[in-house]
Amino acid sequence: MELSNAVRIDEDNIAIKRIKEKCVNCGICKNVCEKIVGIRYDDKKAREAICIHCGQCILNCPVGSLVPKYDYKKVLDYLHDTEKIVTISVAPSVRASIGEGFGLDAGTFLEKELVGALKEVGFDYVFDVTFGADMTIMEEGSELVNRLKNKLTLPMFTSCCPSWVKYLEIYHPEKIRHLSTVKSPIGIQASLLNTYFLKVNELDKKSVINVAVVPCTAKKFEIKRTEMGMDIAITTNELVMLLKESNIDITKVQPSDFSPLFGKGSGSGLIFGKSGGVMEAALRYANYLLTGEDKIINFLDLAENNKSGTIKRATVNIGDYNLRVAAVTGMPNLEVVLNELDNYDFIEVMNCPNGCVSGGGQVLSPITKMNEINLERGESLVEDDKNNKIRFSYQNPDVISIYKTYLDYPNSPKALKILHTNFKDRSDILGEQSP
Ligand code: SF4
Ligand code: SF4
Ligand code: SF4
Repeated sequence: MELSNAVRIDEDNIAIKRIKEKCVNCGICKNVCEKIVGIRYDDKKAREAICIHCGQCILNCPVGSLVPKYDYKKVLDYLHDTEKIVTISVAPSVRASIGEGFGLDAGTFLEKELVGALKEVGFDYVFDVTFGADMTIMEEGSELVNRLKNKLTLPMFTSCCPSWVKYLEIYHPEKIRHLSTVKSPIGIQASLLNTYFLKVNELDKKSVINVAVVPCTAKKFEIKRTEMGMDIAITTNELVMLLKESNIDITKVQPSDFSPLFGKGSGSGLIFGKSGGVMEAALRYANYLLTGEDKIINFLDLAENNKSGTIKRATVNIGDYNLRVAAVTGMPNLEVVLNELDNYDFIEVMNCPNGCVSGGGQVLSPITKMNEINLERGESLVEDDKNNKIRFSYQNPDVISIYKTYLDYPNSPKALKILHTNFKDRSDILGEQSP
């Protein structure tokens, strides 16, 4: 069948593929990509199919014709290789969705069970990306305060969503200077695995494979960027397949704790998975830097339009500053914000409708219930933050320890070298058309 209505997916797309035999040419994926994700290009002029690898088309395909490019078989091979030490780092949102793959309700929070399952299947170290998220906040919050105090480029954009970052690089490269230079939590985790973890454990990188399990298909693209350093990224859904093929039922395993070193995350790190969560976490730290006080900002309650798929705006008083902030999901909403940039100091941008809990790599849910399920996953993270003994990134003992013994202080020369990155103008892939 001629797939004239379907979104174009190139063979060499690093994250997504279409099983052509299943496609019924309904056009839903193209509609989602153009109208919700906001991708637009002239197919005759562009050098390749423009894709930011978000996987929203996967979630909306009614017949399962679109899938992530699966990498979990490679992980199984490494787990069976006795010469290799295999680490896995678990992104915050995975624990709010994985239970659905084993018949549990959406939003069931499975952390210790997930760690137990990963240890049972053979991972040598199981780390928490919530630690990487806390490190992102330390670096990003310091960068924001530096930009404010020294009147550098504002507003600053968050840079932890690789789909949004690629969108900016393609369509608005002149605004790259607004992006925080901090690596994403996965990028930070990988960089510290390849330096600090190897050093502390006296290991050689050649014998270590680092895997991340993420809610996000775009992380398969992100880890190939220079200096990101994670070897393999698998989605939540791939992890369900890996566990099932290994006859492990997450509801029946012995619960366990994350491995030491990168095993603790604060409530701030956990809410990265929900739209507005990075903003809340960064404001908690910025408030500490500017006033010396521990304070929950409650950005999500303060923000207008506190719904999914919207622009959440607020003004937050911190010390001498009235910070004008926003959290945006979806590139069409982002375009609105780009037209009013002078109104903001700090903007969180996420591609997916409710943030990473609704990423394209999460367990598939019935399309009609998707929004409801995503909200339940997000609430599960918010609830755990509220119950967390440590709610501030700067109080995470693993974070305090790594700055003391290895990185010196946030934005130190060493931290800038290891934990920050740069971005590039990709507008040439659009061909002759201007962005
Ligand atoms: S992954 Fe995202 S950007 Fe790529 S085709 Fe699908 S919806 Fe469009
Ligand atoms: S949504 Fe699925 S079935 Fe419909 S056109 Fe796209 S790939 Fe084909
Ligand atoms: S919002 Fe999260 S899941 Fe979605 S593309 Fe961005 S990083 Fe990935």
